[in-house]
Amino acid sequence: MSTFQSAPDGVAPLVRVSAHLERILASVAPLGTVEVVRLADAAGRTLATSVDALVDLPSFDNSAMDGYAVRRADVAAAAVDAPIVLDVVADLPAGSAEEVTIGPGQAARIMTGAPVPAGADAVVPVERTDAGTARVAIHAAPRPGHHIRLRGEDLRAGDRVLTAGMELGARRVAAAAAAGLAELPVVAVPRVAVVATGSELVEPGAPLARGRIHDSNSLLLAALVAEAGCAVSEIRRLPDDPHVLSEWLETRGDCDAVVFSGGVSVGAYDVVRHVLGGLGTVDFVRVAMQPGKPQAFGALPDGTPVFGLPGNPVSVAVSFEAFVRPALLRLAGRAEVRRPTWRAVAAVGWRSPAGRRQYMPVALGADEGVPTVRPATSGGSGSHLVGGLAAADGFAIIPEDVEEVAAGDLVEVVITR
Ligand code: AMP
Ligand code: MG
Repeated sequence: MSTFQSAPDGVAPLVRVSAHLERILASVAPLGTVEVVRLADAAGRTLATSVDALVDLPSFDNSAMDGYAVRRADVAAAAVDAPIVLDVVADLPAGSAEEVTIGPGQAARIMTGAPVPAGADAVVPVERTDAGTARVAIHAAPRPGHHIRLRGEDLRAGDRVLTAGMELGARRVAAAAAAGLAELPVVAVPRVAVVATGSELVEPGAPLARGRIHDSNSLLLAALVAEAGCAVSEIRRLPDDPHVLSEWLETRGDCDAVVFSGGVSVGAYDVVRHVLGGLGTVDFVRVAMQPGKPQAFGALPDGTPVFGLPGNPVSVAVSFEAFVRPALLRLAGRAEVRRPTWRAVAAVGWRSPAGRRQYMPVALGADEGVPTVRPATSGGSGSHLVGGLAAADGFAIIPEDVEEVAAGDLVEVVITR
């Protein structure tokens, strides 16, 4: 292994999590490519430009109930023991195009969603009538406009429906459809290459020779990339061999970002540091966080953003949440790249390192409706405790100056599931 040189940097100052993230976000720009997709293909994509309603919503006054469209003046005195009888002059199901006017003493039977006939100023629900078809007895006086949904009361044509940078989910796609749109402009999906490094790694399920472990990071990263709405362009598992890594860099497929796991620290065989460190365009820093202290970020020679995350699986999960996910969302054109955080009560206490922001994998619970968190593993924040990640719903984020969390303390939580 003479190709390796040791690169100790134990004395480099720690960089704050916020500063490292700012540096990353400052160097990542949204992908410029915009595609127009049918609404049926829009869920999960990011809206490229804001869109406005093409029609009023509702686009005509219509009934909110199955019942009878009436003139209020006719039925102002109606009561259960003093019903008022009207002539039924039309029958209006939803979708009816019939143009009807009702005059004094008249009503139209009307179903939910049908256009309200001219002359009517309220709808009486069928339950407040005798449900007659030729003539109907009205048992209650409606308020003005009762049970009529007014044209434009939800949105007017020209009103903003969706804002650029939004993630398109079910509700937003439905709102666009209702507002008259058939297609939406979306940002191209970022393509991300995932590379796990480590000569100890074997494929999941393969027999374990002495010293070998199953590669979980490539699966973790590929799933996290997909959860962030990006496409995995390739998944690789490479040994700690600089020649193999250099060769991959030269022959790799086109992508918008590369994420490495492992090999960024000061170990004698840390291949990512060895190869990417030699490019001169990738910074290797020590971030004031636990886990996830060694981090690499920069650009490959063609400008592609590249992340080097430490190899411990919990560190990978934390580093992705803290740095990679916001950057991928920025590439994807999202306006909001940070998740909201919440407050929860620590159900038990734990320790946190001085001077470092701790990301503790936690399981969410509830105590009489109040959210609680507890470490997802009995071993706490140990970065090798990948099994415990399965029980985690997110991370408790403990500030740099806190050394001890006590049971009952309120802690900041990011929910990632
Ligand atoms: P490294 O950052 O390369 O020093 O790796 C730190 C620790 O994470 C070591 O115990 C590695 O065996 C472990 N590790 C590295 N890569 C993976 C991986 N892909 N899956 C699971 N564990 C890993
Ligand atoms: Mg390694």
